[in-house]
Amino acid sequence: MSKNASDFQTGDQVVYTPGHANGDTGHPDAEVGFVTSTNAVTVFVDYNRQGRGKPTSPGDLTLLRRGGDAPLNKGQYNGTCYRSACDRHPAPWYNHSTGHYYCTTCAFDINQANHADAMRLFGHELCTRGEHVEVS
Ligand SMILES: [Zn+2]
Repeated sequence: MSKNASDFQTGDQVVYTPGHANGDTGHPDAEVGFVTSTNAVTVFVDYNRQGRGKPTSPGDLTLLRRGGDAPLNKGQYNGTCYRSACDRHPAPWYNHSTGHYYCTTCAFDINQANHADAMRLFGHELCTRGEHVEVS
C-alpha cells in the first residue's frame, strides 16, 4: 500500500493527489506530471512540462504510465483517455459507440461532432459522464 521513491522511474507519468482527495486520481485538485528524477525518499515531478521537478512524497503519487510504455488503463473508467493521440487523465466519459472512456475535452468534441446521429440512435449524447454499467 505505501509507496517508495524506488517505485518510480525517470520518465514515468504520474498523478499527484492531495490528502483531501483521498487517493481519488479523478479529483479536480489532482495533478498530472512526469518524473524527472528520484532519490532515496523523494520523487521529483515536473507538473507543467518546464523541465523542473517539484519534490513530491511518493505516497501522494499514482503511476499512470511507465516511461515509454503504453498508458495504463487506457480507455477505462477514470483511466487515460481512449483517443489514441490523447493521454489526458482522467477519462470519466463513456462513449456508447466504442465502449471506452474519454477525457472531458475529447468527449465534448465527440459529442459535438455526433450530436444528431447520437440523438437519433441513443436518444442522448454519444458520450455520457460516469461509469457505464451494462444492463443485461
Ligand atoms: Zn482525450
